[in-house]
Amino acid sequence: MTICTGLLGWPLGHSVSPAMHDAAFRALGLDGRYDALPTPPEALAAAVAGLAAAGYRGVNVTIPHKQAVMPLLDELSAAAQAIGAVNTIVVGNQGLTVLGRTVSPALTGDNTDWLGFLHPLDARGFDLAGKSALLLGAGGSARAVVYALLQRGLAHLTIWARTPTRATDLATHAQSLSPSLTIPQFPNSPLTISPDLIVNTTPLGMWPHVDASPWPADLPFPAGALVYDLVYRPQRTLFLQQAAAAGCAVQGGLEMLAAQGAAAFELWTGQKPPLEVMLAAALAALVEAR
Ligand code: NAP
Repeated sequence: MTICTGLLGWPLGHSVSPAMHDAAFRALGLDGRYDALPTPPEALAAAVAGLAAAGYRGVNVTIPHKQAVMPLLDELSAAAQAIGAVNTIVVGNQGLTVLGRTVSPALTGDNTDWLGFLHPLDARGFDLAGKSALLLGAGGSARAVVYALLQRGLAHLTIWARTPTRATDLATHAQSLSPSLTIPQFPNSPLTISPDLIVNTTPLGMWPHVDASPWPADLPFPAGALVYDLVYRPQRTLFLQQAAAAGCAVQGGLEMLAAQGAAAFELWTGQKPPLEVMLAAALAALVEAR
């Protein structure tokens, strides 16, 4: 039976996820497919309720449904609850028959963005325990990044965001997850500890606005910091170019994209997909989209 997976979002535009997942199915010799499922907000509830009947093993969820989908699901993973967003739905108990009746399969909401974020750091052997990070932006992906950083024992967190209340809300949330975390009292406060890691979670610099950077023009980059941009189109943003020119190590967002996809694929199929194959497919799809 074909393993059906896909992506719920609106509008979907160009997504590299179908290419990435289809490549993983091929590489593992599995009969599977990943469909783009453009779903306007008013159709979300019906789409989610119909996933099992339509034969889906699971789907990814993207903008603008990551929060809205949560009350439509039967259960949430600990990560999805702590992050407050779902990017992966797993349709469980396919065909389970209880007392002669086929029961409705449970829908579980999970979040793999935090695992995707950690993958390139782990691959570099970057140990976050006791370290300090500076987060640029306080939106949806920032919450997954904060959760990931706290899972690895981050000690100090500074948040810079253009909407100070969002920075404060995220700081309060982070503190509730990890009471020992040190956070400057006020949002957007100057750095009191030189950060070991700087993460851009804003869309600044994303194609087609490639001349934008989230980094203040008059501020030198902290020496020795690893600079990580979640933006993956272009692969090397202006922010990363500036950081590299200042002597910092840099990490782009494409590896995170592939790794969050690989984690979702594993939740649906129980098989570890070849990450390099997914990364290469994502890259090829991006090049094709130019
Ligand atoms: P989001 O929820 O809309 O949050 C965006 C954040 O950036 C908010 O804090 C927002 O501030 C801030 N921001 C937006 N425009 C800004 C500007 N012009 N100047 C300063 N701050 C600005 O978006 P998201 O879902 O977190 O996604 C953010 C970026 O991460 C996107 O480019 C997305 O493609 C990328 N991403 C990559 C991956 C990956 O796998 N590599 C995964 C997830 C996201 P306000 O609150 O004031 O609006």
